[in-house]
Amino acid sequence: MSEPKRRKFWGWGYVGDGLDLIEVQALGSALASVLNLADVSVADPPRIGEIALRKPRLQPPDSMAEIFSTDRWDRAEHALGKSYDDLVRGLHGQYEHPPDLVAFPRDEADVVAVLEWCGDQNAAVIPYGGGSSVAGGVEPVVGDGYRGVVSLDLRRLDRVVEVDTISRAARIQAGVLGPSLEEQLRPHGLTLRHFPQSFEMSSLGGWIATRSAGHYATLHTHIDEFVEGLRALTPRGVLETRRLPASGAGPSPDRLFCGSEGVLGVITEAWMRLQERPRYRASAAIEFASFEEAVEACRTISQSGLHPANCRLLDQTEALISASGDGSAALLIVSFESADHSLDAWMARAIEICRSHSGKVPEGAQRTRTDETPAPEGAGGHWRNWFVRGGHLHDATIRLGMVNDTFETAITWDRFAQFHAGVLESTRRAMKEVCGQGLVSCRFAYVYPDGPAPYYTVMAPGKRGSEREQWAAIKEAASDSLIALGGTITHHHAVGRYHRRWYDRERPPLFADAMRAAKGALDPAGIMNPGVLFDPVQTLESPSRL
Ligand SMILES: Cc1cc2nc3c(=O)[nH]c(=O)nc-3n(C[C@H](O)[C@H](O)[C@H](O)COP(=O)(O)OP(=O)(O)OC[C@H]3O[C@@H](n4cnc5c(N)ncnc54)[C@H](O)[C@@H]3O)c2cc1C
Repeated sequence: MSEPKRRKFWGWGYVGDGLDLIEVQALGSALASVLNLADVSVADPPRIGEIALRKPRLQPPDSMAEIFSTDRWDRAEHALGKSYDDLVRGLHGQYEHPPDLVAFPRDEADVVAVLEWCGDQNAAVIPYGGGSSVAGGVEPVVGDGYRGVVSLDLRRLDRVVEVDTISRAARIQAGVLGPSLEEQLRPHGLTLRHFPQSFEMSSLGGWIATRSAGHYATLHTHIDEFVEGLRALTPRGVLETRRLPASGAGPSPDRLFCGSEGVLGVITEAWMRLQERPRYRASAAIEFASFEEAVEACRTISQSGLHPANCRLLDQTEALISASGDGSAALLIVSFESADHSLDAWMARAIEICRSHSGKVPEGAQRTRTDETPAPEGAGGHWRNWFVRGGHLHDATIRLGMVNDTFETAITWDRFAQFHAGVLESTRRAMKEVCGQGLVSCRFAYVYPDGPAPYYTVMAPGKRGSEREQWAAIKEAASDSLIALGGTITHHHAVGRYHRRWYDRERPPLFADAMRAAKGALDPAGIMNPGVLFDPVQTLESPSRL
């Protein structure tokens, strides 16, 4: 591969990146002190030579040798996503479902050839962008109805192909990762400004396929808002939508592919709406003694029409864990951005709202800047530094044997208080039962005029060898309560294989039938990402996979 840096097969980022042993140990000491633990040991990451992988069950034809890889590293890298459960299994060398082959198509013709060959071979195909799925979206668990599995990695389709500076849009290949995408747009003075926390290691195609949510994006949160048109290759042929600023012509074909999670076809490129790069920035970190008052401030701001780029609320525990506070106050980080105008009036009004809800702006916690690069400062800066290192810190807490994962949802404001209390109660109860103790924190990752998208983090001491079962019990209790109390099983992490059980309870049955019919039309043999959104076929004899 022409990629200069190799992606880790276990853990976040590129080989050589992440916390070194001393930093992991320091994190362990900090956690031991917060959780009152006597000792925290560090497990070493696995080495590629130690990983046992089953033999490939598929043999690519010589004519396609340039596209396919059976390399051990490639197969291990594509065997798991990046959820807690994936990382724990990976750390302990459990790579039970490696893809038989990894395909690295160079262009659309290669993608077509792979889909055709897989159709002929009765092989399942799993589209793969950055592999940052935390919902089991890329793991080759497809049931027994296939002769093998191909992970179809789009990393070679990584270019911004065309920029329309008049309409402010660009045609972009789906395999490009966040940093390269922004680098290619920079000379045009434009930006997509879509920043999921996984930005560094996730792709445009993955964002569209999972309806990802970006940060610093309170108004246009999900990637859906930026898709002007797209092109997908399905087992039935090409589906290309028209480039339009908007359309009322029936249900949107773009939207059918937003959230399709690889089950309808491979998104190969999209026309994306862009923005000018912001020049003016204003931010403030406001403290609230009461979380409830802070929630009310968030609601008022979200309904004020101010539309801050960021309106992020950390409860007291989240502020403590992220080293943004001492745990005595909830912290609301509000920021505004513009390419056009100074933001003093917007910020002044947001602070006025916060003060009317007993919010306090500590000395130096409010900043206005006109440069391009955000300079982390104060509590808001602490939070930002912690946030952008999230993937590496997660690897570290797993090496330290913690049960540490997140879950997220959305709910309307009128139901939030009861919902939040119920979710906390069931999650804490399950955590106490299986881990004895621990912390559950909450932040509002996103707020809308009609409700927040709360994001919960669990941090508890795990029992080495039982962490997966411990987390599964907590996740089950939390997910059951999200659905029972009227929320969504996922605001932005997608359904994948892990959320299927709860998604099936959330999704109206007739809509499931309609989606199944759409899949049947585009993927009649059912080879695309079986097990995601729908059940895969269970036996080779079964004539229908839908
Ligand atoms: C540390 C961390 C932080 C995260 N933060 C966020 C966040 O802030 N916001 C957020 O929304 N998500 C977040 N996620 C989840 C994840 O990054 C998103 O779901 C992301 O959109 C996945 O993109 P990807 O390119 O890595 O896709 P992959 O993981 O490779 O694939 C995800 C799904 O999309 C399908 N897919 C991928 N590419 C294509 C394609 N070209 N055509 C068709 N289907 C395709 C796959 O088959 C799979 O079902 C985070 C994950 C981690 C590990």
